[in-house]
Amino acid sequence: LVRFTDVQKSYDGETLVVKNLNIDISRGEFLTLLGPSGSGKTTTLMMLAGFETPTHGDIELGGKRLNNVPPHKRDIGMVFQNYALFPHMTVSENLAFPLQVRRKGRSEVAERVQRALDMVQLGSFGNRRPAQLSGGQQQRVALARALVFEPTLVLMDEPLGALDKQLREHMQLEIKHLHEQLGITVVYVTHDQSEALTMSDRIAVFHDGVIQQLATPSDLYERPKNAFVAQFIGENN
Ligand code: ATP
Repeated sequence: LVRFTDVQKSYDGETLVVKNLNIDISRGEFLTLLGPSGSGKTTTLMMLAGFETPTHGDIELGGKRLNNVPPHKRDIGMVFQNYALFPHMTVSENLAFPLQVRRKGRSEVAERVQRALDMVQLGSFGNRRPAQLSGGQQQRVALARALVFEPTLVLMDEPLGALDKQLREHMQLEIKHLHEQLGITVVYVTHDQSEALTMSDRIAVFHDGVIQQLATPSDLYERPKNAFVAQFIGENN
């Protein structure tokens, strides 16, 4: 579904923060980009989302080259830790927004908004404003907003970073459940090894802008390709 071919990124014209990325992501896959701070995970996601342009190389979605496609035309849903909800809009209005941008009719908007709210168990919260919700509820609204237009692909950058441990574990299960139920393709960014190991079909381990190993959780754990992967995966486990 997604293909990165020799993708590089430099912000200053000198240092490559992402070097020669080659990734193939299958439809329905849950792929996690895992690595320490500054290793290039977010940059990779931003290029896929269309907020950053590769300095070199190509990114394709469904066989179509994305280079000149703006973010809102990419059929990609996004949940970021700091990708705030619109505070002046109700929950329902927040969810309606991506549908209105895509010129959906009124009754379809209402129906899809309700379905998305039910999906994250917030069916009766449509009239509240974000400030009237807990952190976990806000993050579920953000999740619903990313899914409401049934995108081909959903990107999540540390979506649970701001939540406490218990809620984080609960939300991990909820995201996994939605992934399986909806059959969506997810690219997920985290620096938390155990989160990556529990949630992913495959994990790409980043270090200094290079993927050190791209493999299933059990392969990474049992057959790390180099000392960095072995040490990084081993931490906190
Ligand atoms: P974190 O987990 O801390 O978010 P990351 O792995 O997602 O880290 P990136 O955010 O992709 O890493 O950053 C990779 C490198 O690129 C870092 O050295 C960072 O300082 C640099 N960088 C990121 N965004 C920009 C930008 N907009 N302008 C200049 N440099 C940037």
